[in-house]
Amino acid sequence: MIMKGFKMFDNHIHTIYSKDSGMQIEEAVLKAIELGLKGIAITDHIDYEMPGFDDFYIDDINKYIKDVLMYKEKYKDKLTVTLGIETGQTQGTYKKNEELLNNYKFDYVLSAIHVVNGEDVYQKSYFELKGKKKSYELYLEAVFNAIENFPDFDMFAHLDYVIRKAPYKDKSMNYSDFSDYFDEIFKSLIYKGKGFELNTGVDKFLSIDEVFDINILKRYKELGGEKICIGSDAHDKNRIASNYEYCAYALKKAGFKYLTCFLDRNPVYLEI
Ligand SMILES: [Zn+2]
Ligand SMILES: [Zn+2]
Repeated sequence: MIMKGFKMFDNHIHTIYSKDSGMQIEEAVLKAIELGLKGIAITDHIDYEMPGFDDFYIDDINKYIKDVLMYKEKYKDKLTVTLGIETGQTQGTYKKNEELLNNYKFDYVLSAIHVVNGEDVYQKSYFELKGKKKSYELYLEAVFNAIENFPDFDMFAHLDYVIRKAPYKDKSMNYSDFSDYFDEIFKSLIYKGKGFELNTGVDKFLSIDEVFDINILKRYKELGGEKICIGSDAHDKNRIASNYEYCAYALKKAGFKYLTCFLDRNPVYLEI
């Protein structure tokens, strides 16, 4: 299905069901309506292995699903709300995430790397002793391994996640410095019929145009990549769809004509 006419769809939003967000689902929905969005995917966290936390996942998944579906129905005439989930991957969690997806039905499944070799990538300590190149390479290698070992997802979240807490003056991630890693990731995604998410903000102070190389997007396209979406990873309402237009512009410049969102695990294409 193709939806005509450019309208923003934010594919990555965290609500009160994520341990690190205080946003109510309805708050996110109302903000998205106010911004004139086409839709949002609620993608709360399931991270079965998160160093420093025993339970970085949704406590009551049935309640989560019921709640999202309630708002999906309530606002269906004003906004498309989809039931998503962000599954954090480590070697030890592939099986648990599989079981989760066997037991519950979602519109949209994000796969994500937050932890590399037992270390939380969102902590400065992850970067100690490794240096920038190695820190980024290990993260990209973990992304590749997750794609290979956990294939039941729709899109891979925030390929630039490792940049967020990187303690370097120049945090940028250029295609040319990590070309082998990106090529392997993209070939695997394309072969499996998956795609990835362009995240609208690496952190509160950096915008994507400063640190995410458009050549990464161009290379994905060149290799035959079609599925791509935009997500804000908003944990509060002010971040919803922030920087979205720039990302859409960058994707257009890289040759993409459509963005993707998912309904009932099927891609829906949105004209850029
Ligand atoms: Zn994430
Ligand atoms: Zn997230």
